[in-house]
Amino acid sequence: MSSSSAELAEVFSSIQGEGGLIGLRQVFVRFRGCNLQCDYCDTPTDFSAEPCLAEQTPGRRDFVPVENPVALHRILSLIEGWHRGWPGVHHSVSITGGEPLVSHEILRSWLPHLRSLLPVYLETNGVMHTALELLIDHIDMIGMDIKIPSTSGCTDLWDDHRRFLRVAATKDVFVKVVVGEQTEEWEVERSAEIVGGEGREIPLILQPITRLDGTIGIAPVRVLELQEIASRYLRAVRVIPQTHKFMGQL
Ligand code: SF4
Repeated sequence: MSSSSAELAEVFSSIQGEGGLIGLRQVFVRFRGCNLQCDYCDTPTDFSAEPCLAEQTPGRRDFVPVENPVALHRILSLIEGWHRGWPGVHHSVSITGGEPLVSHEILRSWLPHLRSLLPVYLETNGVMHTALELLIDHIDMIGMDIKIPSTSGCTDLWDDHRRFLRVAATKDVFVKVVVGEQTEEWEVERSAEIVGGEGREIPLILQPITRLDGTIGIAPVRVLELQEIASRYLRAVRVIPQTHKFMGQL
């Protein structure tokens, strides 16, 4: 695969449904593949021969299949067309996945071009710090996860998250932690300590886990208790669920 083409799952325009940029309209470029296997993952991460689904009209869900790998110029011309037809609608381009940093070599050539059209927002699981170092100059905003064992099933990522945040904190960054009924207090405390170690002002978002049936998997009072713990270390701890699902957005 050349660095001017990438394995993509989909490209579309929608409202950002979670995290610090919630409610803003973005162009989503969703890369295939991931370096983790979270228990709650609802994103297909395999490299099957399926085409990329590319929306033609922003937000109208008129997807057409585009053969993978997708060339950069196809993405650029799509966004340029949306710029002309719908000027000012999109706040930024969301580079998402899967885990987009798995494709860091491709992103190194893609991001300067994408950034010439829109600010670049990276949505990441917050682990691949070496890849982030290579790309940080081409990124404007970062939403990173801290994966806690009780909800993600991932263990021993604490040091990777700490190193990742050290690089990410040179940009506009927030951290998201998915919490559920089974989440233990020490997990939230340790997450908040890591974030606070880089700056008390860095926003932390506690995201109540959404079950497969669409219901929230943590009691309201438990969320407040976890927020109180994290707030010992940080100035801005917000509780924000995934909103795109109940709004019927992608
Ligand atoms: S990091 Fe995201 S895409 Fe990867 S397995 Fe976890 S939830 Fe799925």
